[in-house]
Amino acid sequence: MGTFDDACIFRDVPPLREVRKKMFREGKEVGFVATMGALHDGHMSLVKHALEENTDVFVSIFVNPTQFAAHEDLDAYPQTWEEDLKKLKQIQDEHAASSGPNSDSRIRGIFAPTVKVMYPTLPPSSDIAGNGSFVTITPLGNQLEGASRPIFFRGVATVCTKLFNVIQADRVYFGQKDVQQSVLIKRMVKDFLIPTKVRVIPTSREPDGLAMSSRNVYLGERRRKDAVVLSKALFAARDLYNAGELRGAVIRNAATEVFRREAVAKRKDGKLESSCQIEIDYVALSDPENMAMIRDSDKIDPSRGAILSAAVYVQPVDGPKNQDELDQRLVRLIDNVIFEPRE
Ligand code: AMP
Repeated sequence: MGTFDDACIFRDVPPLREVRKKMFREGKEVGFVATMGALHDGHMSLVKHALEENTDVFVSIFVNPTQFAAHEDLDAYPQTWEEDLKKLKQIQDEHAASSGPNSDSRIRGIFAPTVKVMYPTLPPSSDIAGNGSFVTITPLGNQLEGASRPIFFRGVATVCTKLFNVIQADRVYFGQKDVQQSVLIKRMVKDFLIPTKVRVIPTSREPDGLAMSSRNVYLGERRRKDAVVLSKALFAARDLYNAGELRGAVIRNAATEVFRREAVAKRKDGKLESSCQIEIDYVALSDPENMAMIRDSDKIDPSRGAILSAAVYVQPVDGPKNQDELDQRLVRLIDNVIFEPRE
């Protein structure tokens, strides 16, 4: 299988710009996937789509400090560089062996810059009032995830602007898993006149329904089983919409009822079948284009459909049984489902 040679790994901007300039002259079509590493099949699905639609693909691996608040998991964020390279090589080899579209396209570069390369002027601030050159998209970046994580979307928009300036891709690929992020990136591309197309790729899930995420490794075995309640709740609400229900309150209640039944009631009856407490941060129904809230008193417009998104806090296990469980931290998980338009 081999691995990528050094010419494919870019740590700084100028060598990548040289390569990109040549590609412009040669009329190549470039796709770009931005990641923070710890790659899983969800990331691979984005890369696969990028390989299918372009002649050349760039993937970035950069854990962006400006989207982590001081109390969040920047230092603990999983880093798996060698495995990441292997996975990328494997997906490229599988693509080359396929008879699908553009089977001769390839991963032309992996951009893995240092923090200093990405933030050349100041040490980046994780403080909302901190100085620096930032991109803000409001009100989109202040609601839902942005309400719980006030600097998050400023960090995402800022780093993606920089990455887009470096790679200058024809198409960029983002996951539906982070739905608000994908809507925000579309808005940013539109409002800043960035010459790229934004593709949004469906969420890859584990067989039991849990959305794949680099952060799932934090859960450990017992909490991992309980965490499935998140997708279960969202799927239950989607079933109701698919059966004809449009009332906002009824849809949201269907999701929160699953949490009540699976995550709260089980604990209260003394049997404690679940290993940990799972707390809802939000369950929100939103317009698919602009994430505007659909209130409980409103109905979904079936010609537009909707997004139901949720975030939960998974607490450490109640009775830790080993060191790993003793070391557990609070894990925040997000997920969403699309209610397809149907008229
Ligand atoms: P991250 O490395 O978590 O910043 O994610 C990089 C990209 O992969 C983002 O566009 C994510 O939305 C996307 N992604 C993460 N998890 C999934 C998943 N389970 N399915 C599809 N895309 C995903």
